[in-house]
Amino acid sequence: MRNYAKYAGDPRQITARFASKCHTCGKPIKKGESIIYWPNGKHAGHLTCDEADYRNSLASFEDEERYNSQYF
Ligand SMILES: [Zn+2]
Repeated sequence: MRNYAKYAGDPRQITARFASKCHTCGKPIKKGESIIYWPNGKHAGHLTCDEADYRNSLASFEDEERYNSQYF
């Protein structure tokens, strides 16, 4: 049985609406920059920092089990 509810937390690419800090590199995110937002962790990272993880996450929709096994 799959839990589709958690897909509401899928990461997405957005434009930063305010200055914050990248959770990956720790450097500032400026307003207006393209970022990846991760609703599950309520954090964001630069597009360049998180793009690979973002793409992996999207690809994992069809193979979530294997994706998770890379992390645990
Ligand atoms: Zn970064």
